[in-house]
Amino acid sequence: TTFQQLGLAEPILQALAAKNYTVPTPIQAQAIPALMDGRDLCGIAQTGTGKTAAFALPSLDYFHQNPKLTPQKGCRMLVLSPTRELAAQIADSFRDYARFMKLSVATVFGGVPINKQINQLRGGIDILVATPGRLLDLIEQRALSLGHVEIFVLDEADQMMDLGFIQPLKRIDKMLPKQRQSLFFSATMPKAIADLGSQFLVDPVKVSV
Ligand code: AMP
Repeated sequence: TTFQQLGLAEPILQALAAKNYTVPTPIQAQAIPALMDGRDLCGIAQTGTGKTAAFALPSLDYFHQNPKLTPQKGCRMLVLSPTRELAAQIADSFRDYARFMKLSVATVFGGVPINKQINQLRGGIDILVATPGRLLDLIEQRALSLGHVEIFVLDEADQMMDLGFIQPLKRIDKMLPKQRQSLFFSATMPKAIADLGSQFLVDPVKVSV
């Protein structure tokens, strides 16, 4: 398979061509068609497998097919990451793959002053990549709400659990619209993680690489 055969929108194919990516990695080949069908997804995959593009590319395709104004006080897509480093990497990947599209991408994480991030969110954002604690702080400060999220990604769920983010994740889940697409990734899937995933997912496609 090539990215072209997957039917991704032209600006996405152009961005991939600019990076010289022609062939999807195994997780991309499994995940992209299911996600383009609107399915929820539960993926067992480590970093380095191409999982970021596996969720970024079909999401960008969705935004291409479903253009909408950016929600004034929120985001259309929320990606949760356990660490600021990973959050920054994911946001950079989105900017790269979306370089020929008009979409805004922001990252918010803890350990830095919150005011700049509040300003950054003013007027809304299409794609927000966040760590759970800082996201909740920003919601409490009314800098954003989650009522317009159409696509939700929980990345590195096992790390989230190790870092004690289970309660924050449950609080975030309560604020997300019921009608949405959800993606859940973890490097390992012991029962506790699978149970966490089942709270977020509806009839998910399961992929493992
Ligand atoms: P990730 O697992 O998302 O951290 O991606 C691992 C690395 O593989 C990143 O540097 C990506 O830019 C790169 N990558 C992702 N998809 C492809 C692809 N289809 N072909 C070549 N490189 C890729």
